Amino acid sequence: MAARVQRMSRLMLKTLREDPADAETISHRLLVRAGYVRRTAAGIWTWLPLGKQVLENVTRIVREEMDAIGAQEVLLPALLPKEPYETSGRWEEYGDLLFRLKDRKGADYLLGPTHEEIFTQVVKDQCTSYKDLPVMLYQIQTKYRDEARPRSGVLRGREFLMKDSYSFDTSDEELAESYRLHREAYLRIFTRLGLDHRVVSAVSGAMGGSASEEFLAPAAAGEDTFADCPACGYAANTEAVTFPLKPADPMGHPPIEELDTPDTPTIETLAGHLGVPASATLKNLLVKVDGEIWAVGVPGDREVDLGKLTEHLAPAAVELVTAEDFTGRPALVRGYVGPQELAGTAFRYIADPRVAPGTSWITGANKPDTHARNVVCGRDFEVDEYLDVVTVEDGDPCPSCGAGLKLDRAIEIGHIFQLGRKYADAFSLDVLGREGKPVRVTMGSYGIGVSRAVAALAEQTADGQGLCWPREVAPADVHVVAAGKGTQIEMALELTERLASAGVRVLVDDRTGVSPGVKFTDAELIGVPEILVVGRGAAKGLVELKDRRSGEREEVPVDEAVERLVRSAGETA
Ligand code: ATP
Ligand code: MG
Repeated sequence: MAARVQRMSRLMLKTLREDPADAETISHRLLVRAGYVRRTAAGIWTWLPLGKQVLENVTRIVREEMDAIGAQEVLLPALLPKEPYETSGRWEEYGDLLFRLKDRKGADYLLGPTHEEIFTQVVKDQCTSYKDLPVMLYQIQTKYRDEARPRSGVLRGREFLMKDSYSFDTSDEELAESYRLHREAYLRIFTRLGLDHRVVSAVSGAMGGSASEEFLAPAAAGEDTFADCPACGYAANTEAVTFPLKPADPMGHPPIEELDTPDTPTIETLAGHLGVPASATLKNLLVKVDGEIWAVGVPGDREVDLGKLTEHLAPAAVELVTAEDFTGRPALVRGYVGPQELAGTAFRYIADPRVAPGTSWITGANKPDTHARNVVCGRDFEVDEYLDVVTVEDGDPCPSCGAGLKLDRAIEIGHIFQLGRKYADAFSLDVLGREGKPVRVTMGSYGIGVSRAVAALAEQTADGQGLCWPREVAPADVHVVAAGKGTQIEMALELTERLASAGVRVLVDDRTGVSPGVKFTDAELIGVPEILVVGRGAAKGLVELKDRRSGEREEVPVDEAVERLVRSAGETA
């Protein structure tokens, strides 16, 4: 079957020489300049012909791989009633992220940000016996989230295309299998898309290892930070990085000594006053956990990651203490708290594993203007619980091999998650089990940002000249440029026909009244993987072949050019 031909003389395409004023990322700049997308409103985008084709190509790859693992495609509505989201609690939980609206009768609706609730209802309605399971369902659909910062083009839209799938199983083992199938499908999808990607654990080991993983595309424009080990290949979301606890003998240190340290309530003032590095001091952050005061000990040069702490202590509510919390608590001296006298009181003392048994610290003496040195963990104070609560930094040891970690930016392109019975419980989703008794269903949820993947690809593959698509997602295999007028245009169109009838997708620049310079610049900007120039040599039967990525160019006889282009298009078809 002949492949698609697109003639630039007829294509609705207007490239721009200038970057859009508000563009912060490469993908935003280039997708707009090359005429793939246009902004309609903040975080809301129109996909123009070339953009729609790339989006469609990504969608096709995702669909093929989802079908290959036996997932079944459905399409749920995007306009949803409030009730199921009230049942799950997410009508409230989502807060400002949710687009809410009313119908003419005043009933509440929302635009779906993700569809766990509705899929659970669908399966409750359709599947009644264990024989109906396992089932994996997916859709490729527009999602709506009123993002706080919709600033990076289609990377973070308020309306965006997502592939979301959900698995329904009757046992944990089956759920693990559905999860594994998705994980492998995702790896194949991102490999086929030509995206450089990493799979990282999204939660720390303590919370259940592989129950949730993110697929990240390293890129400077990414909003996620992940830790990467150049030595052993370990990669994790910074929230999931753990530090090994290395206990040592706490005896043998000199005894505690009090230090007169006036006006040193902060680590900086203290370290400056004593002439020691901040890392020699122990910072004790006071927090309220479900209303009770706990202390969190970390080295003075480290920050407590409140997100990590909250996640570890969930569902307990974690807040920072305020000035009022010190009144009526004389044992707590603001700015001079030390763990050595908190022991044995009602407080719990949590610490980072860097505060291991046998380590010695300078810390508050629990008296105004006084600190203490040689305060030894395991001798002078005990830690009730070790939790990884500090923000990871460049050079921190890799939990797997000990080498220095590197922190990198990445775009989250996918997320797989073993939900367990959370939604099945909320909606009483049971099926009749093998023994004739109802069995509660267990679920997984799996997402891919389809429109975001287009932007991630643009981020990773663009160069100084413009976009540079991997072949499978490119809007064409070959960009044929008629450098001159008249016969060169005729020859370009003839060549186009030959290529198309051999199955090569062609974008042909057959515009008259456009200079060769502008055509070449546009070809680089648009980013089709191979460029064929029909220029002066055409009269002698010669054309120029150019590889968009490497920039290599070669003058070859027409027949050879056709043969080579057909071959390389066939390799990925
Ligand atoms: P993020 O942290 O980037 O907001 P998320 O954790 O909210 O993402 P999920 O709810 O897991 O994302 O959604 C599944 C996938 O949908 C994500 O992995 C991402 O690729 C994509 N996605 C999420 N929000 C957006 C958005 N605003 N625009 C485009 N794609 C998005
Ligand atoms: Mg989000």
